[in-house]
Amino acid sequence: MDRPKRRATRPEALLEKLRAAIEDGRLPPGARLPEEKLARALDASRARVREVLSLLANERLVELQTNRGAFVAKPTVEEARHICEARLMAERTTARLAAERATPDAVRKMREMVAEEQIAWDSDDVRNAVAKSRGFHRAIAEAAANPVLADILASLLSRSALTQAVYAARGAAGCLCHDHSALIDAIEAGDPDTAEAAMKTHMDNIISRLDLEPLAQEVDIEDALRDTL
Ligand SMILES: [Zn+2]
Repeated sequence: MDRPKRRATRPEALLEKLRAAIEDGRLPPGARLPEEKLARALDASRARVREVLSLLANERLVELQTNRGAFVAKPTVEEARHICEARLMAERTTARLAAERATPDAVRKMREMVAEEQIAWDSDDVRNAVAKSRGFHRAIAEAAANPVLADILASLLSRSALTQAVYAARGAAGCLCHDHSALIDAIEAGDPDTAEAAMKTHMDNIISRLDLEPLAQEVDIEDALRDTL
């Protein structure tokens, strides 16, 4: 009997599938990504999987290690700080532009997304809630009507998902819906200054919930043990 023919899956579809699994934490930072297993799970050839892994490596979502294979990227503290800085900058400009350019339809879409996000949080569906938050930030980028900025932000949001998976305290990943509503209000009012300020407050809230203090390399043993019995 003939083996079932592999569907000629487009690399874009595989890329999206794997990227979503990485963003959602189904494939967590540091997870090994063996070609053969991926090929089986995705019903694709190993060559195609290799191609997609190398595209994800270009996006810094996957790390290719010589002789060891592919792993989901695990940002260092330093990289995490850089991602936060870059995201803060891109998001502030995006919020400004969205306040200047958002259509009533775009604003309606944002409100719907935040309502869905709230429902997901209320039902403790953290993965879905975080995905909806990311979707909300992408919607602001769309409303800002600058595709170059939207591309930059999409990449930063994906890398930010990895950062949060590694450095956010348990239960503190994702956004605050209250912040999102304040942002939409400013965007709907067509007020770029308030929108930018609301985004800065929002990003500060997200960043403050990450533990980005580097672990102490040198410990003073006497100090550390002074008060113990
Ligand atoms: Zn947010």
